[in-house]
Parts: sequence; structure tokens; C-alpha cells
Amino acid sequence: MRIGHRPERDKRITTHVALVSRAFGADKIVVDKEDQKLRHTIEKVTEKFGGEFKIEFHSLKEEMKTFDGIKVHLTMYGIPYQRKIGEIRRNENILIVVGAEKVPRDVYEIVDYNIAVENQPHSEVSALAIFLEHLGRKRKLEGELKIVPQARGKKVLRIPGREECLDLLRKYGADENLIAHSVMCAKVAGKMSEGCEVDLRLLEAGALLHDIGKTVTMGIAHGAEGYSILRKEGYDERIARFCSTHVGAGLLKKTARHFHLPDMDYIPRTTEEKIVCHSDTLLKGTRVTRVEEIMEDYRQKGLGDEAIRLKKLDVYLQKKCGYNIDVILKLNQ
Ligand code: SAM
Repeated sequence: MRIGHRPERDKRITTHVALVSRAFGADKIVVDKEDQKLRHTIEKVTEKFGGEFKIEFHSLKEEMKTFDGIKVHLTMYGIPYQRKIGEIRRNENILIVVGAEKVPRDVYEIVDYNIAVENQPHSEVSALAIFLEHLGRKRKLEGELKIVPQARGKKVLRIPGREECLDLLRKYGADENLIAHSVMCAKVAGKMSEGCEVDLRLLEAGALLHDIGKTVTMGIAHGAEGYSILRKEGYDERIARFCSTHVGAGLLKKTARHFHLPDMDYIPRTTEEKIVCHSDTLLKGTRVTRVEEIMEDYRQKGLGDEAIRLKKLDVYLQKKCGYNIDVILKLNQ
């Protein structure tokens, strides 16, 4: 809850209060004075960088009518946060009030806690960031743009959304069977990933696009073909690799050479790549099967070693994500 907002004077600082709230785990910000420019800026950031962060405009009094939880006012006159943070953290719903200029006296009275982040004057942005960091409610924000941490320089990954992936499949002439398979692969991958740390947007894009190379060839080269389609379309290596790393349990160098495939890495490395690869393995078209059934198919084709690699990936993902095939098989219903 940001009180005392003056749209002309506080444009930048209230924007920063909102950005800090979003980045450090708040669900929403309430600003006590309507400011459509501010709304636009915050909604744009949320659209690009992800999350469900909301911005609303109404007074503290109005917010208190519906708010069900504890109220914390950040002020340099309060009790040091270190003494109260453990107690405050135990509450599910927390309304944090920060001021702009002079904060009215009654605010100190109506809240449950007046909390200081050092008993020295500084700013609502720093106080809020430090308080929220210690509250520990940060969550993953997944949007179209994902910043890839770098020791130097800047790297931003653009991840296509569901509609963009489906449009791209259609642009390359994917038929309804291929699209249905890709959509099912995304469902299986989503279920399989429930117990592990993944970027869900990246996972969905990878699952939807992994077979785009089948619009060129149905053979083993479809992975490499898909990779080059996505690179040509300007997608990052990390999106294109879902194509080249999903065939079998990933192709070994000697296998790639045997089939005269372009010289590159065909092994799924990231958790997202491994999940897409294995989700595709478990699918016969749009039907989920057990890995043992797929292994049997491989053995009958004389690919016993490859069957063992499928099983290894299965065991690895069961351990890492705790996935249960019986739950995934329910997607067939
Ligand atoms: N003198 C003003 C007052 O009446 O409290 C402070 C104005 S200050 C520029 C704006 C806001 O920053 C305050 O309302 C408070 O929420 C926050 N703030 C500044 N220093 C703080 C501190 N040491 N601890 C917690 N919050 C602080």
C-alpha cells in the first residue's frame, strides 16, 4: 500500500516501489491516487517479464475494509525489523504500508506493527526491498523475456508463448496430427515437471516446437532440421536445442555421425530439455505409454543399448522430479 502518491512528483519513486514489490514477491500494489501512466508502466513490465502482479488505485481506508490479514507500516520510527520479522512471517496475508512525504499520525495507530529498517531516514524503495527480502516471499516470474545471469554484459532470452509456437508449426505446414502430438507433449511435460525446478514457459515452448522438423522429414534428421528452422526464424539456441536433443534419449556422437547428421550436440542437458525428450519418448502420437513398452519397441529394432539409455533418463527424471507414470497415464482419459 503506497500512500501519499503525488502523480507529478512521485512518478519515478512510486514506479520503483511497484517494481520492488513485484520483483520481491508481492501479489499486488495499491496506490492511493489514480495514475494511469503508472498502471501502464507496471502492466507492461508484468506482461514482458511475467507474473500475476496487479496494480490497483484506492485509499488505505478502502483497502482496510476488505483486507484480511496483518498490517505493517514501514517507518524509520518503528521497531527494528530484525526483532519482529519471524513473528510477521508466520502470517499468510500481509499489507505493507509505505509513505511518501509526511505520514498521517493515525496510520501509526491503525496498523499492527510499525517497523523500521534501520532507525535512520532513507527511502520507501530501500525499506520495502530489504523488508520483503527478509520476508522471503519471492517467487518465480516467468515471462516472454528471461534475463540470463551473466558475469559481464547482458543476455536476455525471448521465449515464444503458446500461440506463437502453434502459429509457427502451422506456418511450416504441420498437420493436425503433429499439432495434437505437440500439444499432448506439452501436457505430459507439464505434469512430469511438477516436482522440479523448471521454467514452465520455456518447457511449454520446447514441447510445442520439438517436432517442427517433421514438417521437413520424418526421419532421424528431423531434430537437426527443426533446430535449423528455429535458428533461421531467429530463436535462441536454447529454444532450438529442444529439437536437436529430443530424439531417442539424445543421440550419441557416433550415432549422429552414422546417420550423417550435422556435427552438433544432440544430448539433452538442461532439466527442461530432458523432460521434453522423455515426454516425447513416452508418447505414441497422442497416447502416453510406459517406458517399458517403448523399450520393447527399441529392442525389436535391434536398439537394445538405446533402450537402456531411455530407461536411465526415466529413472533420472523420476528421482529428480518425483514424477509418477500412473499420474501421467491419466492424461490418456
Ligand atoms: N519523514 C517521513 C515520515 O513521516 O515518516 C518519511 C518520509 S520517507 C522519504 C518515505 C517513506 O520511506 C516513509 O513513509 C517510510 O515508509 C519509508 N522509510 C524511510 N526510512 C525508513 C526506515 N528507516 N525504515 C522503514 N521505512 C522507512
